[in-house]
Amino acid sequence: MIPYGRQDISQSDIDAVIEILKSDFLTQGPTVEKFENSVATYCGARHGIATNSATSALHIACLALGLGPKDILWTSPTTFVASANCALYCGASIDFVDIDLQSHNMCVKKLEHKLIEAEKTGNLPKIVMPVHLTGQPSDMAAIKVLADRYNFKIIEDASHAIGAKYCSDNTTVMQSNSDSASNENFLPIGNCQYSDICVFSFHPVKIITTGEGGLATTNDNTLAERMQRFRSHGVTSNPSDMFERPNDEIWNYQQTLLGYNYRMTDIQAALGISQLGRLSKFVQRRHLIADVYNEGLKDLPIALPWQSNQSYSSYHLYVIKINELDSPKTQREVYDILQSNNINVNLHYIPVYRQPYYEKLGFKQGYCSNAERYHKSALSIPMFPKLEKIQQTKVIEILHEIFS
Ligand SMILES: *Cc1c(COP(=O)(O)O)cnc(C)c1O
Repeated sequence: MIPYGRQDISQSDIDAVIEILKSDFLTQGPTVEKFENSVATYCGARHGIATNSATSALHIACLALGLGPKDILWTSPTTFVASANCALYCGASIDFVDIDLQSHNMCVKKLEHKLIEAEKTGNLPKIVMPVHLTGQPSDMAAIKVLADRYNFKIIEDASHAIGAKYCSDNTTVMQSNSDSASNENFLPIGNCQYSDICVFSFHPVKIITTGEGGLATTNDNTLAERMQRFRSHGVTSNPSDMFERPNDEIWNYQQTLLGYNYRMTDIQAALGISQLGRLSKFVQRRHLIADVYNEGLKDLPIALPWQSNQSYSSYHLYVIKINELDSPKTQREVYDILQSNNINVNLHYIPVYRQPYYEKLGFKQGYCSNAERYHKSALSIPMFPKLEKIQQTKVIEILHEIFS
């Protein structure tokens, strides 16, 4: 079976993990801090807070921003369920802003219209969570303008997007995809120029992996401190954060919030540091694979991924769309034929609100028409650094057979 995505583990990754197994720290220790600093430095952010998954990082990001039962979080319907679940964990309400059919990210025009309507009824969101789908950055500058006007906070779900970059000055245009890695007008996703918090995932199918793991970046000292505390039981051992207690009692730690155990281990962090060293190689390799697909599939009646010339995708996924052009085969047929040829294509994503759990909350089919149209056309074909030439050729050949 050729998977749609998988990890790339080197001998140096293995050595880095073994090193930790022989050291004094297994759970969160000095290596987690080193990993946090490495990711924050790479992104140009002040703080990094590592967790045991992106799902936990999204949860503590919402908590740190004070999301609670009377609040509303808006995200994209075309995302993994975790982007929406984190709001429900906090007792908040969830709503969805439809995508645009070019980037497949949250549509900024639709966001603006929805904000105008929500202001009239007093239902403005506390947090808006754009998702950089497939690693293609959302238009964060435009979303930030709306955040300032309508007074909401921004968490980026960048689970797909470590290594992605966006143009910082809106004037520079990328000549070719390989240029941007070195172009200084392109800044890494995660620097939080336009957001309060940005969250990455290190699940094995993502760009770099720690087995399971996530990390939140922020430039805000208070948010960083709050996320650190929520990550570890709501407990602090910093005397300046503690409440006054009698001097003859030992109070070397205090619980001040209801937190969780969302800690990353040093074992995972060692793998993360080692993987981070190959991040730009991984992303370059993904671009080369995309170039081969772009060339090999260009004559077929399918739509190929769009790439903004103002950003550099991390190419987490390569999504083809079947029903957009006059296709002789349905999405379902293409999916079944690829599967029966041992190519494990996937669909990213079913609109979250169409999940049975969300339908029970009252969401109805038809709510976000673009997300539903995308759901009926998109397929993710194999895309990962270790994809071999003959595997990719097989994928291209079978797609040609399907449409011949
Ligand atoms: C993978 C993913 C998550 C969850 O990441 P975990 O690390 O598995 O918890 C959240 N959002 C999106 C968009 C993802 O792709």
